[in-house]
Amino acid sequence: MFVANWKMNGSSIAVKEWLNIISSSDNLNKCIFCPPLLYLKEANEFISEKKLTLSLGAQDIDPENNISLTGGISPSMLKDVGCKYSIIGHSERRNFYKEDSTLLINKVSICLKEGIKVIFCIGESLEERNSGQTKEILSQQLRALDGFSSENLMVAYEPVWAIGSGRIPLLEDISETSDYLINELIALGHKQEEITILYGGSVDASNAKEIYQLKAVSGLLIGGASLDGEQFLKIIG
Ligand code: PEP
Repeated sequence: MFVANWKMNGSSIAVKEWLNIISSSDNLNKCIFCPPLLYLKEANEFISEKKLTLSLGAQDIDPENNISLTGGISPSMLKDVGCKYSIIGHSERRNFYKEDSTLLINKVSICLKEGIKVIFCIGESLEERNSGQTKEILSQQLRALDGFSSENLMVAYEPVWAIGSGRIPLLEDISETSDYLINELIALGHKQEEITILYGGSVDASNAKEIYQLKAVSGLLIGGASLDGEQFLKIIG
């Protein structure tokens, strides 16, 4: 899988131009496009009109349904615009909005109950990595997935220090950490055959292939480099 996370970027025109560029790929069915919420409807219309096989995802969702919540976005609204996935727990939201485990568990729960598949992001900060706490931090974050199954859920391992920095861990580290996550999920009761681990953090056309080929990695979550249609096309092949 290849997840394009546009974050707070893009425009109506950019969405259509981008979809046009990547539409020539044979791997479109492995792509999940996550533009800002505002552009999901237009993206969906374009995808339907051109009969493209990629899926749409939101970058976030609210943790409650059918309550009075100004600015809230519910699973049924996402489904209404053709959205099948939502990213949950991205480090930027964990840090900026102080999103904690309790909130994230509610978001995961409402998505899975209402038929939105989850892309759950976890990752250690540089400080945590340097103090040898990576595995402990990842395990803590993964505990939010206790009681859920991996059937409709993917885990994106995104070291916070690698996001947008141009730095990636060594391939051996990505492999070892992904294996560790798989084992931790199994320990939480997830079925091995359903587990999907994505890697995210400074993936671009120059490093995507070698990361994607790692046995424990089933896909990539791409931020900055996904904005450029030509580069994303090179990444997905
Ligand atoms: C991200 O924001 O999830 C991400 C992976 O960003 P980038 O690819 O720009 O590092």
